[in-house]
Amino acid sequence: METAAKKYPSSFTPSYSIETENKSLRDTINYLKSEIDRLKKPPLLVCDVLRVVGDKAMIRLSNGNRFFVHVSQELLTTLSPGDRVLVEQKFLNIVDRLDKTKRYDVEKFILFEKPPLSWEDVGGLKDQVRDIKEVIELPLKEPHLFTEIGITPHKGVLLYGPSGTGKTLLAKAVAASTNSCFIGVVGSELNQKFIGEGAKLVKDIFNLARERAPSIIFIDELDAIASDRIDMGIGGEREVQRTFMQLLNELDGFDTMHNVKIIGATNRIEVLDNAILRPGRLDRLIEVPLPGLKERIDIFKVHTRMMKSEQIDYKKLANLTEHFSGAEIKAVCTEAGYFAIRNKKTTVSQEDFLAAIQKTLQDLDPDHRPMFG
Ligand code: ATP
Repeated sequence: METAAKKYPSSFTPSYSIETENKSLRDTINYLKSEIDRLKKPPLLVCDVLRVVGDKAMIRLSNGNRFFVHVSQELLTTLSPGDRVLVEQKFLNIVDRLDKTKRYDVEKFILFEKPPLSWEDVGGLKDQVRDIKEVIELPLKEPHLFTEIGITPHKGVLLYGPSGTGKTLLAKAVAASTNSCFIGVVGSELNQKFIGEGAKLVKDIFNLARERAPSIIFIDELDAIASDRIDMGIGGEREVQRTFMQLLNELDGFDTMHNVKIIGATNRIEVLDNAILRPGRLDRLIEVPLPGLKERIDIFKVHTRMMKSEQIDYKKLANLTEHFSGAEIKAVCTEAGYFAIRNKKTTVSQEDFLAAIQKTLQDLDPDHRPMFG
């Protein structure tokens, strides 16, 4: 009998490899089809089990509604009140039980208890520091001023402006100056996979803030949950909407004299839903723009304070860094330090800063580059 290898010229790969490749491609197609089917399924609800009665369980949805649902024999043996379960949307059948360790741990949102910062670490931003002190610091430090005069302080502020201009820095600095617990949250991280999970997180964050008061909740990328132009595909918007509604509920529900303040931040104020800016919510807006010449000098001074450097012409550095954000100026200072180390020096020179600016400029997009020289 002729072997497969003899049928083909020696340069041709034997049929064995074609069949293997075919099989591998079929496997890939089957896998992709099953993935598509899986992704088309509607999201599952996260519910709490309140009671188990016979072969049924009473569950509570995130909106508070309760249902008696059937439980499969397999799950029934392990299910107990207090468990969290995944429930399909159509018939509310319990599909799976959430592992206790998979519960969303809100504590991981605490970045640090007391940020090691002071107002001295903020360069420029004089008006913004004044405003945030008035809205956040004063009611936390001297609440009697507000009760005596009979006005209710703002619940929080919205900081808006380009990336890297010091919005987070301001929030951390005011947390430090008021000795408050800083709870940092990123808006996009509140958008969770399971229905009701994002809303629950928001609730937990506010509860935690009340427990740890005085505290400041800082929500970065607020537009990720509070935008009026969210388009995430099937069903995703509704889930974001639920998280947003919970945020509005929490904002409306808490007492202004509570030692909890909210600071929202966004680079895209134009897409924010007006509901978040209504009176009694984040109704105080503070713009945090790119630094001007004088502010850039201040920021250079902040970031070179701890550096061993020779005589520095700050004005020249500031002139060369037009359109730079505070974060980019900080990057220049770090890079200047690296230049000095590479040249085996123990102090940083003006030339190191100039080289660092040029390097940072190369990393920026062309529209962003100021004239150098
Ligand atoms: P994003 O919108 O991208 O979250 P942001 O506005 O919150 O940015 P920050 O995270 O506060 O910007 O800034 C990043 C870093 O840049 C700060 O930790 C700080 O080191 C530096 N920085 C920014 N602005 C200033 C400033 N005005 N003074 C001193 N340092 C600054």
